[in-house]
Amino acid sequence: MPVGKIGNLIKVWQDRYFDLGNKSFIKYILIFENKGEEIGVTLSHPHGQIYAFSYIPPVVLEELSSSKNFYRKNKKCLHCKIVERELRDSSRIITSNKDFIAFIPFYARWPYEVHIYCLRHLGSLCELDDREVTSLSKIIKELVNRYNKLFNFRMPYVMIIHQIPTDGKDYPYYHFHFEFYPPYRTKNKLKYLAGCELGAGTFINDTLPEERAAELRSIILEE
Ligand SMILES: [Zn+2]
Ligand SMILES: [Zn+2]
Repeated sequence: MPVGKIGNLIKVWQDRYFDLGNKSFIKYILIFENKGEEIGVTLSHPHGQIYAFSYIPPVVLEELSSSKNFYRKNKKCLHCKIVERELRDSSRIITSNKDFIAFIPFYARWPYEVHIYCLRHLGSLCELDDREVTSLSKIIKELVNRYNKLFNFRMPYVMIIHQIPTDGKDYPYYHFHFEFYPPYRTKNKLKYLAGCELGAGTFINDTLPEERAAELRSIILEE
């Protein structure tokens, strides 16, 4: 997809987040994209979905409470701190540009899980300026191209956008980001959620994010 079209899609996400989030009974907007039949989707072609919740769902609630605790103790955004540390270390970074960074977090649950963060501390996509929309489009495109070249097939994934809730409260401690979950462990092996993941909500990931990041980073893309 050309960068301009990805930019249009970002504008759709902004518009839907803003419009649905303005309804008084909607507290959280979850936007995601599904790609590939391995994801177990009902549609075989790539597609996006938007869920408007009347409550804040549990995964987001957990992120919010960790971010809030960190902010209270350190007077700093947890996510900005993570980005700062990733930039300093650089071993888990896949790519970056002047406005965004893509890396495999040290807490990744999937071998090739990549998170994209805005370098500016923003709560939602609606706060992006035009230049940042272009930078975000470019980094998404580059990441997807790297995924597709990794095993030489179109990498399936779920792409989630985590933004601040739309319940009218202030979330100065939260920082919007994208999370990509490709289900492959190797070219021929899928990661299945089993006992520990399903029963305990704890993911077992037997790879090193530094090694997986180096693999994705070393891919040479055609201009
Ligand atoms: Zn931040
Ligand atoms: Zn998140």
